[in-house]
Amino acid sequence: MQLLDGNLCAEQIRQEITQKVDAIKASGQRAPHLAAVLVGNDGASENYVAFKVKDCAQVGFESTTIRLPDTVTEDELLAKVAELNADDGIDGFIVQLPLPKHIDENKIILAIDAKKDVDGFSPVSVGKLNLGLPTFISATPNGIMELLARYKIETEGKHCVVLGRSNIVGTPMAVLMSRNTNPGNATVTIAHSRTKNLKELCLSADILIVAIGKTEFVTADMVKQGAVVIDVGQTRVPDTTKKNGFRNVGDVDFDNVKEKCSYITYVTGGVGPMTRASLLQNTLKAHQAR
Ligand code: NAP
Repeated sequence: MQLLDGNLCAEQIRQEITQKVDAIKASGQRAPHLAAVLVGNDGASENYVAFKVKDCAQVGFESTTIRLPDTVTEDELLAKVAELNADDGIDGFIVQLPLPKHIDENKIILAIDAKKDVDGFSPVSVGKLNLGLPTFISATPNGIMELLARYKIETEGKHCVVLGRSNIVGTPMAVLMSRNTNPGNATVTIAHSRTKNLKELCLSADILIVAIGKTEFVTADMVKQGAVVIDVGQTRVPDTTKKNGFRNVGDVDFDNVKEKCSYITYVTGGVGPMTRASLLQNTLKAHQAR
């Protein structure tokens, strides 16, 4: 079994980006600039945005965090999105999800200019992804593709089962794995909460990508010997032994499943760092396109 080291690959990507940013600055242009809109005080969202700011600093990007109270109205948030769309000094921005219940997330996503949609959530980005055209690809599936590529994992002709069909992870993941690319060219099954015979399906997977948000859902008896297992899940569970009072648990029962795998990711240092690195790649792309 080989652990797919997302920290290592993400560091390589950050170094590659740093070199490009140095060249951009040396040519007299300003550095790429990412903005993040953070609504409310959700602990996980605060953490994600803090990491994004730290990553930007490491590669030499500018970053701006816009904090809005959880009482912000939908119209006020739409006005902020319009302002960021029009701001020439910002190459790309994200609105950190989830948003408070009184705000329609789809309305916000629809309002983001596709040229600045570095999260890859807008209909234009999703449509282009489905057509195989160059676009911003949602950071988590893109990071997983990058991980598979960097470890030279053979995907062509393999059966890839994607557990989860969310717009930001499962569905784009399935599209990417089925495209005529390398990695890609897999035969993909997408499964969800209504899927029957899930265990049999998982057992037939050469590559199993799990993004459901159910702790340790995938157990060893669901995994084929020699399979590649990518655990996207990240659920906070209380843990009094930790300084911050919680630990992240994945969707895969890592300790038992790892014995059967050729390659596997761990909840920490696996998909998470690759997601962060992908956002930087998208921001650089947005800068270059402008
Ligand atoms: P989501 O929007 O809640 O979607 C979950 C998907 O899992 C849904 O399609 C759901 O099916 C399916 N599902 C739920 N229970 C299931 C079951 N028992 N059997 C089969 N399918 C089931 O979640 P998400 O945003 O895709 O995120 C999934 C997980 O990945 C979460 O733990 C999240 O924190 C994590 N995540 C991690 C990263 C990272 O960078 N590491 C990034 C994004 C997300 P239905 O559609 O039928 O409801």
